[in-house]
Amino acid sequence: MVEEQRGELTVYQGPMFSDKTSKLIQLYLELTEGVPEEEINAHCFKWAGDNRYVDEHEDPNKLVAHNGATAPAILFEDKENPKQLLKLVPKGMAHALIDEAMFLSNEIIEVVEALLAQGINVTIAGLDKTAEGEPFGPMPELVKKADEVYNLKASICDKHGRQCPNGGATRSYRKAPMKTTQTVGGKDAYGACCVQSWGELHVPLEE
Ligand SMILES: [Zn+2]
Repeated sequence: MVEEQRGELTVYQGPMFSDKTSKLIQLYLELTEGVPEEEINAHCFKWAGDNRYVDEHEDPNKLVAHNGATAPAILFEDKENPKQLLKLVPKGMAHALIDEAMFLSNEIIEVVEALLAQGINVTIAGLDKTAEGEPFGPMPELVKKADEVYNLKASICDKHGRQCPNGGATRSYRKAPMKTTQTVGGKDAYGACCVQSWGELHVPLEE
């Protein structure tokens, strides 16, 4: 009996504004460039609740990067039940690109395992840490299982700009008072900085 060749798991992780989604979109464009639409076998997935940067008049069925690049995305509704993603897998899929995985329940680990076992390559993007600096959702477990991990930094540290003396922005921080880490927010709510400036800039969660 010939075992199916296992897929490869790649993780892009880092703070806010570290271009994780841009990396997924870039990969999608590389995998699909010049491929006729009916033969495209790479597909992006995202939780429907993550609608940052998507204007209400725009099509929500896409990934949108901070730089404005886009890729079509398959949405799933319930972040507590990412197994629904398996029901949405298009026939012949060879590569799954999953954005903002930190919002999903740990069930995503089983989903990724199932995809890899079918020989599907999986690329995950997500925040490694919450704004409090704690491990974010399923990300640590996904990193443990990954064949390749890219630790990204934001290009601008909000304290020191592009020339951060501490090597760049590896942390997310909260700009305004808020009640839960799961609050989806863009640049009004969160920023990125080096770990040395985090204590100064970060606004802790409200009680
Ligand atoms: Zn800095």
